[in-house]
Amino acid sequence: MIISSATTTTARRSLASASRLGALAGPSRSLATPVSSSSSALAGGSGSSQHRVLIVGGGAAGQAVSHQLARTGAFPEHEDIAIIDPKSTHDYQPGWTLVGAGLKTKEELRRNMGDLAGNGDGLKLYQDSVESFDPENNSIKTRDGRTISYEHLVVVPGLAHFPERISGLPEALADPASKVGSIYDYDSCDRVWEYIQDHKSGPAIFTQPPQPHKCAGAPQKIMWLAWNHWKDQGVRDSIPISFATALPAMFSVPKYSAVLDDLRKERDVEGLFGHNLTSIEGSTATFTTTSGEKVTRPFNFLHATPPQGPRAFVKDSPLADATSGFVSVDQSTTQHTKYPNVWSIGDSSSLPTSKTAAAITAQAPVLVANLIRSALNIKDGEAASYDGYTSCPLLTEYGKVLLAEFKYGAQVKETFGQLFGFDQGKPSRAFYHLKKDFFPWVYYNSMVKGTWAGPKGFSMGGGLGAVAPKPTARSFSSSAFSSSSHSGSRRAFSTTPRQQRDTPVRRARDPLDKDPTAMRYPLPSGETLIVRRAPATGSSPGGNLLQPALHEVASASAQGSGSVLPPPLSPRSSHPLRKSQLSPQQISQIQSLRSSSPLSNTPRKLARQFGCSELFVRIVAPVDRVTKQFRENQEQVRRQGEGVERAVVRAERRARRELW
Ligand SMILES: Cc1cc2nc3c(=O)[nH]c(=O)nc-3n(C[C@H](O)[C@H](O)[C@H](O)COP(=O)(O)OP(=O)(O)OC[C@H]3O[C@@H](n4cnc5c(N)ncnc54)[C@H](O)[C@@H]3O)c2cc1C
Repeated sequence: MIISSATTTTARRSLASASRLGALAGPSRSLATPVSSSSSALAGGSGSSQHRVLIVGGGAAGQAVSHQLARTGAFPEHEDIAIIDPKSTHDYQPGWTLVGAGLKTKEELRRNMGDLAGNGDGLKLYQDSVESFDPENNSIKTRDGRTISYEHLVVVPGLAHFPERISGLPEALADPASKVGSIYDYDSCDRVWEYIQDHKSGPAIFTQPPQPHKCAGAPQKIMWLAWNHWKDQGVRDSIPISFATALPAMFSVPKYSAVLDDLRKERDVEGLFGHNLTSIEGSTATFTTTSGEKVTRPFNFLHATPPQGPRAFVKDSPLADATSGFVSVDQSTTQHTKYPNVWSIGDSSSLPTSKTAAAITAQAPVLVANLIRSALNIKDGEAASYDGYTSCPLLTEYGKVLLAEFKYGAQVKETFGQLFGFDQGKPSRAFYHLKKDFFPWVYYNSMVKGTWAGPKGFSMGGGLGAVAPKPTARSFSSSAFSSSSHSGSRRAFSTTPRQQRDTPVRRARDPLDKDPTAMRYPLPSGETLIVRRAPATGSSPGGNLLQPALHEVASASAQGSGSVLPPPLSPRSSHPLRKSQLSPQQISQIQSLRSSSPLSNTPRKLARQFGCSELFVRIVAPVDRVTKQFRENQEQVRRQGEGVERAVVRAERRARRELW
């Protein structure tokens, strides 16, 4: 884990790097111009440090942005990018619904913050919390007395929960006898499952506060799973269920709301719309309706979603939006509306969309692309833009999910609907596995490592090629960017085939790099021979005896007397496969058979007939374009006949393959 001490001072970056931040103007959409880091911002005494990018919050957004930025290679120096977060752990919060329904444990969804934030990408992690922002001087102040300056600031500290705004709720949540639980909190999410299992009769109420809050669907997901459990246990008829929501409907998107409301009626769940929970006293809940009326209800089990809003240190800062109190950013570029070197996405931003991790998968690549455009003063092309994409996998029972996907203006934007032409408004088993298995897997294996772009991850190439919005990616081929990305082993944005070809493959670090005693001998062939010291606890004394001889052989080879090295073990020409080559006559026979009847003489059939590989047949006797097209059409028709589940499995497999 990388935790800094209070006195650590990061090596000063030259002012030249700060002065690279200049005016930006794209042809149709432009980003505002960041101010250069002032000398006062770069100066620092005891307890002060400076980073090119400072990320406030190591949650879903902080991890995705920091790792994506690191992977671009645009900030190549060690600890150019820093994250500050007071927590030592990181939770996959969308999984807490699964914990509340007995499908996962909260421990399996938790990771060590240090393990995520370091992760070999050269990031600095401060375990500290930000107390105030000073955007005029490009610096922040922390709880532990640090002053940290930056060139770019990414503000992603999530949002705050205010259970105390419901009278009696904090006490009820702390008291197991109250049977009041919430999946919105690490400490209580597993207790919800205990309460659901214990509950055999009497009214059950599920509440939803006014927006904004995390995942607008979670308050009813846990209700549907509880309903399913009680039905399976045969106690459903003795449990009247009420869904009390401050909203006027089941969901903000009419298409999904209609489906969910039909489900509610079909399952005999009472809908208390426009009902906001305001107090809990014993086993009585009081709601205030939109018309100001007080309504009370008895309960034997209550699931509460606490009111949520901006954190105080954000709301009271110069970065806050006057109305919402969240970080005020442009809803398309994610750049701050006043300070051009400040950025925000996720739960703490003013982006007018549903607050989900899924939304972050679409927001992070936009922020990263625009921040780099700004930092590298790229003027070509358009700024990347975010369309409000968000998603909510609504568990409607054990085994089924309605996958809501939409953008700004509550407009439906369905990934699988677009790809395969089926209706995501219909709860499906395939989406259930996405929610229960695939999303938690892809979150920790890819999203927090900066290689997952949500729906784009399904349809575009792997790595950051997948997450770079196309127009912006083109502009990354500017010399400033490519020189920095090609100098090291980091990958750059690469969306065109040419860029992909020219981009060095990311390789695991050579373990010999770490051995200070390793000697390198460049050979005339261009290869490098590395001689390493024998292990300190080596079991073979012969290993140590051989060391001088190895150095002698290596240096002689490096000087050109190549004969010192022994010959290769097996000359290539004697490889047994070479003997089984086909004659020119056989090859022309393959070609004529294939061209006479390309559909029946398949590569597999001919490979078997001539004792060679299918690939060989494809190479020597490729089919013409018409046949190829015919084959593709046949394949497409076959796939159209496939069901939803197979289509989703296929898409999942493709996504995984892209991540390899
Ligand atoms: C019960 C539940 C169900 C959900 N279901 C889904 C779902 O199905 N699908 C989905 O996509 N999303 C879902 N979400 C929402 C999703 O988890 C959040 O939208 C997402 O985690 C937000 O990420 P974030 O980085 O903005 O904030 P967070 O992940 O909350 O991270 C904020 C980080 O900032 C840190 N921080 C706080 N204060 C400071 C400070 N002063 N200084 C520095 N750092 C600070 C915090 O310690 C934290 O680590 C769900 C959430 C919950 C609670």
